[in-house]
Amino acid sequence: MNVVVKTQPFSLPPLPYDEGALEPTISKRTMGFHYGKHHATYVKKLNELVAGTPFADQKLDDIIKATYLDAGKAEIFNNAAQAWNHTIFWACLSPKGGIAKGQLATALERDLGGYEKFKEEFVKAGADHFGSGWVWLVSDKGKLSIETGHDAVTPLAQRKTCILTIDLWEHAYYLDYQNNREGFLKQVSDKLLNWDFARQNFERAG
Ligand code: FE
Repeated sequence: MNVVVKTQPFSLPPLPYDEGALEPTISKRTMGFHYGKHHATYVKKLNELVAGTPFADQKLDDIIKATYLDAGKAEIFNNAAQAWNHTIFWACLSPKGGIAKGQLATALERDLGGYEKFKEEFVKAGADHFGSGWVWLVSDKGKLSIETGHDAVTPLAQRKTCILTIDLWEHAYYLDYQNNREGFLKQVSDKLLNWDFARQNFERAG
């Protein structure tokens, strides 16, 4: 008997490190829920929503751009963008941490007052953001800025390049930091940001 295994169009990408690798800043328990439940559910729901539609054959970033601000497709946008945002977020973190270097360090100096000032403003923007969402370092044609977006909103949909991001949804920090979002943002910004990944994003954007 032949068994046909149907693969869904989108799959949950593997984490770039073990679930416990970011401890103590982010616990293994948080990663287990965040990656294994929340991120996985966005991917699963997206597959259900696009099944049998033309979106099933499209790339994730094309779906995000095509459904942004389309009220009739908000559910597809939300799940597609959350699937993409989380994959980027995992890549923005590294147990090794680091600091900004190269062209990106120069651009941070020029546009945002330098690496230390950037971290301060990034944490503040994320802490001040009301409700769920994301804080982003973005490049718009080489110019850097800090932005926040509500819920699933992503700079990718606005044709900007994502350099770094941190998840502001409570599921990202509540088990470890309870209501102290600012503390979570500060710890992650100081210890876990993957500046090699950020530099690659910036240099690729040109
Ligand atoms: Fe999340």
